[in-house]
Amino acid sequence: MTAPSSILPSREPGPHNADAPAYWLRVALDVPLPGLFDYRSDQDVAVGTRVIVPFGRRKMVGVVVQLEDQPTIDAHLVKPVEQILSDLPPMPDDWMRLARFAAQYYQRPLGEVMLPCLPTGLRKVSAYQGKRSGGGPVVRSDARKQSAPASDVTPAAAPQLNADQEKAVNEICGIQGFKAVLLHGITGSGKTEVYLRAAQHALAQGRQVLFMVPEINLTPQLERSLRARLTAVAGGDILAVMHSGLADGERLRAWLRVQRGQARILLGTRLAIFTPLPDLGLIIVDEEHDASYKQQDGLRYSARDLAVWRAHDLGIPVVLGSATPSLESWHHAQTGQYLLLSLTHRARDAELPAVRLVDTRRLALEQGLSPHLVTAMQERLQDKQQCLVFLNRRGYAPVLSCASCGWVSQCTRCTAYTVLHRARGGRNLLSCHHCGYRSQVPRACPDCGDQDLRPMGRGTQRVEEHLAELFPDARIARIDADSTRLKGSAEALFAKVHAGEVDILVGTQMVAKGHDFSNLGLVGVLNADSMLFSQDFRAPERLFAQLMQVAGRAGRHLKGAEVIIQTDYPEQPVYQALTRHDYKGFAEYALTERRAVGLPPFAHQALLTAEARELRLAMDFLSAARDFVGQHPDRFPAADLITLYDPVPLRVVRVANIERAQLLVESSSRPALQAFLSVWMQAMPQLAVDTRVRWQLEVDPLEI
Ligand SMILES: [Zn+2]
Ligand SMILES: [Zn+2]
Repeated sequence: MTAPSSILPSREPGPHNADAPAYWLRVALDVPLPGLFDYRSDQDVAVGTRVIVPFGRRKMVGVVVQLEDQPTIDAHLVKPVEQILSDLPPMPDDWMRLARFAAQYYQRPLGEVMLPCLPTGLRKVSAYQGKRSGGGPVVRSDARKQSAPASDVTPAAAPQLNADQEKAVNEICGIQGFKAVLLHGITGSGKTEVYLRAAQHALAQGRQVLFMVPEINLTPQLERSLRARLTAVAGGDILAVMHSGLADGERLRAWLRVQRGQARILLGTRLAIFTPLPDLGLIIVDEEHDASYKQQDGLRYSARDLAVWRAHDLGIPVVLGSATPSLESWHHAQTGQYLLLSLTHRARDAELPAVRLVDTRRLALEQGLSPHLVTAMQERLQDKQQCLVFLNRRGYAPVLSCASCGWVSQCTRCTAYTVLHRARGGRNLLSCHHCGYRSQVPRACPDCGDQDLRPMGRGTQRVEEHLAELFPDARIARIDADSTRLKGSAEALFAKVHAGEVDILVGTQMVAKGHDFSNLGLVGVLNADSMLFSQDFRAPERLFAQLMQVAGRAGRHLKGAEVIIQTDYPEQPVYQALTRHDYKGFAEYALTERRAVGLPPFAHQALLTAEARELRLAMDFLSAARDFVGQHPDRFPAADLITLYDPVPLRVVRVANIERAQLLVESSSRPALQAFLSVWMQAMPQLAVDTRVRWQLEVDPLEI
């Protein structure tokens, strides 16, 4: 593709001197335009080199992607490169291939993939040409004294493996070349130990390991294990950690240590997938089913899927681990594309908690709690065990309503209710969870003037309040996005739970992941049904994974732990499978259903989303994009393999005064879908002439 020449600057310099040697470069830039851009250099430049080039009135850092014998536009119009950045070697070939693949697969300009995944300093002109640039960020970073955090780590001994673990470790360590392994292990079955042994093996062979986790919150715990088991033994700091919570300088230092091969293990969240690792020999993706691996803006990539691609490209093993694998991965394991390894026993012989369903249809609930749950909590508290009440809804009540006229609190900027929150000091406020808008609670109904405004339903704050009345002697803590807003507060709250200073913990999904509560005897799940009946076909899969994860917090160190799920639909397969801890049964059921109606993994999807101030504009754009396909049968030869659905408004159609609609594209053939999308995306600039409409494409969307 050629950039429109009008974009390229046409003022300086004069005609190119035919006698001077010229190298014609095609450069990727972080601009929302398809294609690469032509530049000229009087020195030979390797592919992968970063350069500073003029672009319009600006200067930008770009990456040289191709060398050409001739420019693709008139040579006189081609601008010279302004500076060749040599503080780093050119980006390696495998990194270039990964970026190319991601750009092609997710239908984004190459520059919008390559540049944003570099540490900030490496892609900022001011870092090299500013007044205080001092030789660039790499030079400055190297000049800083390195700390040595590994020195105070006490090496830890490896525990004994059980038979399942030993088999898994042997299988993984025996893999030659590419292989994707699905490590399916119930919570507490010792997946981490398998990861550690596999990592040790790769390190011993002189290879690097990329260890991915879904969330920053999970890195400190793993970082400690990795340091104690691997770094301390190696006698130096061979670990680098990378996540979005790092300051620019920290991230650059970690990136450089990995890129230079000084760090041998990279522990990181999804963005770590784009780090160059010269000796990469093993990739581990923990909690592979977790939605956090999917980037939700810009390049909407799945780091899990890119990990599999990268392993395949490099001819190395990749281990995807989960207690509740994504149905995509499970399907691949069932069809033999992935190697399935199962850990079926809990380590330390801990029992799985008993899961009991409480049918709430004919029960009188008090503040959302069934008598069964209250009694069970009383018993556990008497036995000095901890209880967890899980409710995936923060705030006091999801909506405030007028008892006389039916008025409900609504966000003025979104099609959503505002949530009642109890702020510190007992003051109430209404807050929109979609746009963040906050307002005072009205003294009286804005419609009828009645003063009888009541909270409807309940969130974690209200449950906490009610539990305090029911159990006045119990020490109660709440963990959700509100109670952990301050930096370090989540760690402090979890530390109190671990220290036994909390009797009852109330929390949202924040408590579900990664934490190992040794004295937790009972988990109560409220309001699970709200997660079951969603328009999204992945809702049951998500609910199952989440409840398995919450249930897995209980009984790791004590016998007879119990999980109570309150539901109006106890006969639903997802709940029935939970009572048996039966992931396999659930997956078989869900896959049969998906096959019958042709949903992923039996179909491949992409979602075109449009946003505008008026819904009509967004819908018109999507209709035009849809009609374009029918109007150009010559451009879309395989259109019969593609299903284009009608454009529909999103469920929450308006957020912050922007109306949103989407158009689903589906095909049973991935190559056909990819071919279709690339032609369709080329036509987008001519379709998206109305600047009031913003659009984006998401390949393999997780939420529909
Ligand atoms: Zn009213
Ligand atoms: Zn709002």
